[in-house]
Amino acid sequence: MTADRGDSNVFDRLAKRIRLEGAITIADFMADVLITPKHGYYMSGEPFGAAGDFITAPEVSQMFGELIGIWCADTWYNMGGPTTLNLVELGPGRGTLMSDMLRAAGMVPGFLQTLQVHLIEVSPNLKKKQKEALSGFNVTWHSDLTTLPEGPTLFIANEFFDALPIKQFERSPEGWSERLITLSEDEKELNFTLSPASKAIESLLPESLRTAPEGAVIELSPIASTITDMISHHILEHGGAALFIDYGWDIPTAQPTLQAVKAHKKHPVLQEPGTADISALVDFPTLVTTALNAGVAAHGPITQGDFLRSLGIEQRAEMLRKTGTDEQIVDITSAEHRLTDANEMGTLFKVLALTHPDYQTPAAFP
Ligand code: SAH
Repeated sequence: MTADRGDSNVFDRLAKRIRLEGAITIADFMADVLITPKHGYYMSGEPFGAAGDFITAPEVSQMFGELIGIWCADTWYNMGGPTTLNLVELGPGRGTLMSDMLRAAGMVPGFLQTLQVHLIEVSPNLKKKQKEALSGFNVTWHSDLTTLPEGPTLFIANEFFDALPIKQFERSPEGWSERLITLSEDEKELNFTLSPASKAIESLLPESLRTAPEGAVIELSPIASTITDMISHHILEHGGAALFIDYGWDIPTAQPTLQAVKAHKKHPVLQEPGTADISALVDFPTLVTTALNAGVAAHGPITQGDFLRSLGIEQRAEMLRKTGTDEQIVDITSAEHRLTDANEMGTLFKVLALTHPDYQTPAAFP
């Protein structure tokens, strides 16, 4: 699956760029490697599933999307049941989550008819997959949030924020330095290098981390904050809510987490760029601060295990097992375990909800 992306185009393009511009930020590197038209990791090939590089929760089991569909219906009800509601998914991958959500939405009287589906996706290849998965539904695609319509909106993002570009800052004896990416002397490899960061960077760091010890590394995603701010303002102005699900921190943490994954195994980040997925743990505390500053209410983050259990994954699994074949019964039990167990996706993955401040606390949140 990854062989067709193993060409040297990406390395050559990065090397040329560094020769012309000098060392680049990790954020520039990530955006370049992941979403450059044609050669970007998400722009060709298919990253998900057993034959790809990684598996996401909606690909593990239909129960994930079904429970989120029910969460959406409940939130719609709390909003007073508006007659039209935009359902926006960011980074929908193969369209599996949206398809499972819409099937569950169809079980709630009156809900499906109110929905206008909008998908935010940069990859033409994945857009094609989404079109297939959602044939029969009226779907509008966008390449970013700026073209979204007005009106009450629910935003859903699963494993979207972890793919957004981050920057890394390291505490050196002289203060904060930014980790950049440059070419090795023989120009055959990419290397990390440090460059003094402007003093202004301190004001962007969470207060508890400003005095982090020498050697500490902090990751910031300016684009993740910008997207959260845009979503928050949309919710404030038009009504609605957002649900972000991703692997990430629930307290400010000084630890580098940038990683590459290829064929389900960790891969050195700078090796064979473009052939592996690159992501970093999501900094939920900064997303919460951004949302609160904008004026929306933030709930959580809670763990994915707690979220799915409160929405009834155990009962749903039991129901599916009742009509399943022996093989399906084993699959359902193993998927339930994978999605909720503390040693699998249950604790590392967190769920954050943002809502208009006038609504009550959304389902599954304390
Ligand atoms: N939500 C899906 C896929 C997660 S992978 C799932 O859970 O299976 C990340 C998704 O985000 C892909 O669809 C990718 O093409 C998309 N994506 C990555 N960076 C993006 C960006 N900057 N803008 C829009 N979409 C992006």
